[in-house]
Amino acid sequence: MGHAVGIDLGTTNTVVAAVVDGTARVLSDDAGDRLIPSVVAFPPNGGVLVGRRARERRRIDAQNTIHSVKRLIGRAWSSEEVVRARTYLPFDLKEGAHGLPLVVSRGRTFDLHTISAFVLQRAKKLAEKVLGGTVDAAVITVPASFNDRQRAATKAAGSEAGLRVLRILNEPTAAALAYGLGRTSPGAHERVAVYDLGGGTFDLTLLDLSSNVFEVLGTAGDSFLGGDDLDLLIVDELRAEILKQTRFDPRGDVQVMERLSTDAEQVKIALSDREEVEITFRDLAAFADGHPIGATILVRRASFERLAAPLVERSIEVCREALAVAKLGIGDFGDVLLVGGSTRIPLVRRKIEQFFQRPPRTDLDPDEVVAIGAAIQADALVRHERPEHGEPRSESARTASGRRNPALPSAFPGRAQRAGPLLVDVTPLTLGVETVSGFVEPVIERNTAVPCSQTRIFTTAKDGQGAITVRVFQGEGRSLGENVLLGELSLDGLREARRGEVQVEVTFALDADGILQVSARDPETARAVSATLKVGRTS
Ligand code: AMP
Repeated sequence: MGHAVGIDLGTTNTVVAAVVDGTARVLSDDAGDRLIPSVVAFPPNGGVLVGRRARERRRIDAQNTIHSVKRLIGRAWSSEEVVRARTYLPFDLKEGAHGLPLVVSRGRTFDLHTISAFVLQRAKKLAEKVLGGTVDAAVITVPASFNDRQRAATKAAGSEAGLRVLRILNEPTAAALAYGLGRTSPGAHERVAVYDLGGGTFDLTLLDLSSNVFEVLGTAGDSFLGGDDLDLLIVDELRAEILKQTRFDPRGDVQVMERLSTDAEQVKIALSDREEVEITFRDLAAFADGHPIGATILVRRASFERLAAPLVERSIEVCREALAVAKLGIGDFGDVLLVGGSTRIPLVRRKIEQFFQRPPRTDLDPDEVVAIGAAIQADALVRHERPEHGEPRSESARTASGRRNPALPSAFPGRAQRAGPLLVDVTPLTLGVETVSGFVEPVIERNTAVPCSQTRIFTTAKDGQGAITVRVFQGEGRSLGENVLLGELSLDGLREARRGEVQVEVTFALDADGILQVSARDPETARAVSATLKVGRTS
């Protein structure tokens, strides 16, 4: 049997960690790099580059260098996110089967989960080299706000990379595990807020931790708020300044815009430590007389902060929303944990401190904390499968709704004498079905602890109706437009009768990874159909 690892599959970077001799640690490559850029490039001579070497190609071959896939994975071609992404991503996307986007490069098409699988394969290889053996299982983390399709597509990426996906784990839960929180005395509770601002997404998650239960009290997020957006603000500034100094408009040249984008990120990172940064561009293009076009630009932290303030304020708005959903106040929390590279920005830290009225915890590296927690969980799950390796075989946990939860494994390897926290996650979005009147009727409400199952009775809407179609939606709000269609299934062979006389039982079963199984059953004939709604497949 091989090793199990924890993988933080990020929008910008991927990090792999493992428990070695009872301690979780991030694994680094030969060059000492702990971050694997989540970038895949298809060079002209064939083959595939992944990670740092792929990222280098962004500057010279943007159209065939694929990044930020996490923003799109599991989303429909027609979704707002994909429509928006197509306006700024330099590589081509096209609509594939089931209305899902495909990446196009050098005449070939790839599912989004296949691109993520290349990155996961790199993480697996790196881990195999460091650990000196096969790595065949992993816990992979996702934002708490990911819906079923996004989780299932991430799981599909793991399988395609040759990994047995032990669990899809919420990133904030992983962070709390890494901090070793929740080891309170029996009966005591500790509440933490996890503020996660990465490359592409923002989430605020509120966790309740007690001696053996981690409960997500509420989560809210913005899938288009992250370091990439801050980079775009700097790109705009640099572009305007280049135009002013040279009258050359970089917007017409996709390659130059890509250079500005990678340089903007470096400027932003440098501004976390310095008050100002000077950047020189050479050979952006050539004037009509053949002279190269270049520019030198000074960017000050104060002006970056002015630009960034509305985006950072948006994250604080999301914090307010998460607290409101969980019906909790700022005083109800202890620690505020930071996750994601963008939380190194001084303005972000100041705003968090102002809002939560306490300094956030910064003792663990915000880029590594999620992978560490995932590794702890992976190790615990493997121990659970192989009880001779230490941890207790099973326990049960209280769910958010007070029900008993099926056994979940404990964490904290190397501390077998004491059971670690059992993880209880919630579904971040409401799941429901379309009714005859064209509304969405909730079946599993947002923030219900998973795994869970709910059955509802629906009746026929017309006289003599022989079949019923169950259309499954995810989202908040009652109107169809406020929800995303996850899929549908039909049950036929119903008894011919007057409307309202024939009943169908519809059951939603949501597993611990947040993947939904829907079934419909006719109690009169016991005929039943079920579907995983193909949420696991993006092709
Ligand atoms: P993550 O998705 O957590 O890997 O976060 C990556 C994002 O964090 C990228 O947008 C990086 O540019 C950003 N980032 C990393 N380090 C810093 C830093 N020191 N200051 C500002 N942003 C940073």
